[in-house]
Amino acid sequence: MIPTGHRKVAFAFAILSSLPCLTSSCAEQIDLLTNGGFEKGTSTGLPESWTLNGVGSAETITDAHGGKRALRIIFGKESTGCYAPKIEVRSGVEYHAGFWARGTGALQLIVYQYSESGHFMGSKFFDARVATQDWKRFDEIYKTPDAFVSLVAFALHVVGDGSAAAFDDASFSYDATKYPPPEVETPETALSLTVETRDAEATVFIDGTETAPGTAGTSIKLIEGAHVLSLTATATGDRPAVRILCPEHPYLQSAFRGTTTPADGWMKAGCDDSTWVRAEVAEDGWMWLGNSPGRVCFRQVIGYTHSFHGPQRCIAPRVKQWEWPQHSMQVVNLWLRPLDDKAKVNDFHFILDVPQPFRMLATETRCVNWFSIITPKKVIATPITRSGLPYTRYDIAYPSNFHTERPTGCFSAVCLKPDAYVRLKEVTFYYRRQPSVNQTELEVAMPVRMLPPVNGKMPKQILQWSPLPPVEDSSGISSKEEALESARLYAAMGINTWSARPDPFARSQERKDRWDEALREFQRLGGRYGIWLNNSLGLNYGFAEYFAPGPARYLKEHPECRARWYRGVNPKTYGENHFNYCNEWAGSDDSAPFWDEIQKTYAMSLVNWPHPAFLFFDWEHARIDRQGNGNHCFCDRCKKAFCEFANLPAGAVFDDETIVKKYAAPWTQFRCFQDARIYARIKKRCNALGQKMMLYVAGGDIDPVRYAKGCLDIFHEGTPGNGYAYSSQLDFLTAHFDEMRKTIGNIPMLPQMLPSFPNNGFNTEPSLDGYYHPRLLAVTNLVGVLATRGGGMEHWLIPSAYSAGAPFYVGESNRLMASFEEFFTQGERHDELVTTNNPCGKVVVLTHGKERLILAFNDKPTSQRVTLTQKGLPGKTKAVLCFDGKPLPNAGKMEVAIPGEYLAAIHVKAAALR
Ligand SMILES: [Zn+2]
Repeated sequence: MIPTGHRKVAFAFAILSSLPCLTSSCAEQIDLLTNGGFEKGTSTGLPESWTLNGVGSAETITDAHGGKRALRIIFGKESTGCYAPKIEVRSGVEYHAGFWARGTGALQLIVYQYSESGHFMGSKFFDARVATQDWKRFDEIYKTPDAFVSLVAFALHVVGDGSAAAFDDASFSYDATKYPPPEVETPETALSLTVETRDAEATVFIDGTETAPGTAGTSIKLIEGAHVLSLTATATGDRPAVRILCPEHPYLQSAFRGTTTPADGWMKAGCDDSTWVRAEVAEDGWMWLGNSPGRVCFRQVIGYTHSFHGPQRCIAPRVKQWEWPQHSMQVVNLWLRPLDDKAKVNDFHFILDVPQPFRMLATETRCVNWFSIITPKKVIATPITRSGLPYTRYDIAYPSNFHTERPTGCFSAVCLKPDAYVRLKEVTFYYRRQPSVNQTELEVAMPVRMLPPVNGKMPKQILQWSPLPPVEDSSGISSKEEALESARLYAAMGINTWSARPDPFARSQERKDRWDEALREFQRLGGRYGIWLNNSLGLNYGFAEYFAPGPARYLKEHPECRARWYRGVNPKTYGENHFNYCNEWAGSDDSAPFWDEIQKTYAMSLVNWPHPAFLFFDWEHARIDRQGNGNHCFCDRCKKAFCEFANLPAGAVFDDETIVKKYAAPWTQFRCFQDARIYARIKKRCNALGQKMMLYVAGGDIDPVRYAKGCLDIFHEGTPGNGYAYSSQLDFLTAHFDEMRKTIGNIPMLPQMLPSFPNNGFNTEPSLDGYYHPRLLAVTNLVGVLATRGGGMEHWLIPSAYSAGAPFYVGESNRLMASFEEFFTQGERHDELVTTNNPCGKVVVLTHGKERLILAFNDKPTSQRVTLTQKGLPGKTKAVLCFDGKPLPNAGKMEVAIPGEYLAAIHVKAAALR
């Protein structure tokens, strides 16, 4: 084994300042504030690096306390502030925050607080102070409220009408003697190399520095990152050759490129060596560059990645501990980024070793359009042995040149499944990237902890809908085997509804057949489906003849019923032969024959899928954009109706541009009003076929359904949308869906969870500690169902959500809801029945009859112990922990440990007499 050590180095910290002495021994007071003297200005008038916050004004002025400039803030509304760039802070350190000020009214120091990953964590408000005519010094002490606040912004505010103040010589400092910077560990590894020569002399360099003579073996220290191993060799005889031996990493020996004419800087990273040729390496390891007689140069990039979740990682999502449910398919996302970002990459291989019985499922073509997903070109599986255990090595090769379009890398969702029960509690995957012939990553180990099998249960009423898989667009799932496995996984998770999609999204008959087969498997396992009818109204697709021939023909034959696009220009987003309807006409009784044709398309979908849970319409109208582009309908009929709607003079005719520029707000409202009338017609036609209509609108905006009372059967909204719901958001979400219920009526509502979009360098929505927490999917699911009073949750599961143990936790939340469904659908919230010392999340109490279901959440990333005290218990009761079935000894006062970003669920009922 090559020793992997940790080198202790101290943080290099900021500027020593010449502050006034605040404490008795302040020799090492270090100021962290940027431009606190406001001496640097900008063309906008603000001090450099500072930002105005709120309504009001801020600028640098020359009436200074120290130096030549100061900052003046004038109140506008509520509180007007100006803040400096974020500062890294440490828990337990006392920070001295101070400033000079003069002016009128009240001023206030506020410290904005953030987690390491940038989540806003609330502000620390210091007491407002009265400004004086003369310069006066104000000093405060700041400490972080907990270990999760690791960034702050220093903000100076003026508060209240008439307030205005000049600020100067602000500082945010700490005593480095009292709070020495912590030592951080820089991961490093040692690479053992032996260089042999034959009829040649050779010199070895690492990042341009010559290493010790290599014949006896050289140990090279590497810190995390990319390094260039280079070699110059000069022939001294007839058969010149060099041989690099690296027993721990033998794959390095054959990964050199060579040239006789290297460009400047070739020994450093970032050099383009794409014109260099691959060095010819004989079976016994000797290499040279053809039969070059003189000096030759070789180079390769070696990447050292200390961990699978560190900064140089190429495995997503970023979790500290990978978990894998027994018998389940999961996805490992390979981030195909080069080790040297500046180098061209044209032959990317990923070597992944997995212990048997793990096996990679079949891969077929995948769509590369969404989320930078890329399909392997070739996968070669070889049985090998590692540490005495049987493994399979997958050499996964990718198409050439895919990095030219996506320089930060693409990703590949690799589906793996253990084919049998894994007896070990933890197994290890090994991997390395070979982004091109001459880039090689030192192998990385990834421990994977085995979980019990996914053990979800399908609720009967609560909708658990996953609309997309196995569409390769978003999930990466495409082969028949992957599709069938994902059907089984969804059923095991307790997802009870999938979708059937008779639309061009399926793209080919082969994909459609594969999808249908997976859906049949899902039904066999107890699942239902909704039919996704996107293209029969919804979005701006209009009607294509190949998909909806009846409505398309109707519009073709009745040009007067078609939409007039903004300025009469069809954006042709969906092709020349797509026809759109006039909104006003489609919402009126005149359009009945057209709706007869549409109803036939709905009826046609029922031929293949006769018993859907609902017919689904994705309504993402761009109601208006600033240019009006792509919007319809701007015909005279619609304009006339708009005048009536907006109480404008009858007969007032507006050109399209005036509407967009001058009447954008009422026009948007009018479009929402028109849309609601169309929803009502869709619902009527669905109901005529005995079906329920479900409509999706984007999240957080009441406008799309403001006029839709009675027009919908099921309401699906993109809230919380692209992120997670912590229990702290429950009250907000509950209020939101209650408001929606008032607006559109008491119908089932379905929120949405889009757990992660790994398209921008795998930025899965980070948790407070910057990591992805699969358990949070269970919390979000429960919070969504609680907020909608038993409505459900849409799981738009893309690869990260199939990963790292997430299916297990979603399964646990669904088993809980299926086992106690009446609490969620008919129960009442009585949170007041439990008091707690729990500072880390909400405690929700659902009652049903005399029973209680207590959900105690932990929003923090670390495990917390809490005490829950119940009030008003009726006689003798017992309390049982739901996930593991353990009884709690004292139902009145319960002690439970809650894992990070998860919950404890407790069922309380009368103790049985017998
Ligand atoms: Zn119109």
